[in-house]
Amino acid sequence: MQKKGIIAIDGYSSCGKSTVAKDLAKELGYIYIDTGAMYRTVTLFAMRKGLIGTEIDITKLETNLEQINISFKYQPEQKKNETFLNGESVENEIRGLEVSQHVSAISAIGFVRRRLVELQQKMGQEGGIVMDGRDIGTVVFPDADLKLFMTASPEIRAQRRYDELTAKGEEVDFDAILENVKQRDHLDSTRKESPLLQADDAVVLDNSNMNKEEQLEWIINTAKERHLI
Ligand code: C5P
Repeated sequence: MQKKGIIAIDGYSSCGKSTVAKDLAKELGYIYIDTGAMYRTVTLFAMRKGLIGTEIDITKLETNLEQINISFKYQPEQKKNETFLNGESVENEIRGLEVSQHVSAISAIGFVRRRLVELQQKMGQEGGIVMDGRDIGTVVFPDADLKLFMTASPEIRAQRRYDELTAKGEEVDFDAILENVKQRDHLDSTRKESPLLQADDAVVLDNSNMNKEEQLEWIINTAKERHLI
């Protein structure tokens, strides 16, 4: 790629998009942007404000939206980005099961998506980014230089999520995680506002039986075949 381009990675929940996106960004000297973290941060904000009960208080959320400032900071020691909500690190809290249970409902709201998509387009306007999410290749950057659509079986994805959470010392139930993965697949694919869709020109990567090194190699080869790098 002569000019630093845009690589869009979309796909189902917990299929390792962020791991591969991070590795790829590092390999290419690009910036990695995790858009799921942005929807999770808005969800945490709504939870803390008491806007999520049996229903979501849409009106209050809309009036409060301007108060939500989301930023990322690269943490060299942990080799990862940390997510901040109005200056406070929320990286761990946004990954918990409670946020995961509400995030699909929050991300189905039109005004939330419009606000976050606008921010994501600004973040990517200079190029040199790898961005992962659900609608990056279809809505955020329909002209991305390379679009990947990642998938793996729900059981494998739930196992990965289970391993990740237990490694952090969280007590979690495998069946509850599997249920959450399936439920988010369903909600994300059937919502009215920018559903999770494979872009026509996306390349599919099923990583059910691939480790992270194999995935990275596969993507780099795909990018080279297309003369992108
Ligand atoms: O990627 P992650 O699993 O952290 O995303 C959390 C949730 O945020 C997804 O289940 C989806 O509902 C929402 N999301 C979205 N659009 C994106 C990224 C995430 O709707 N671009």
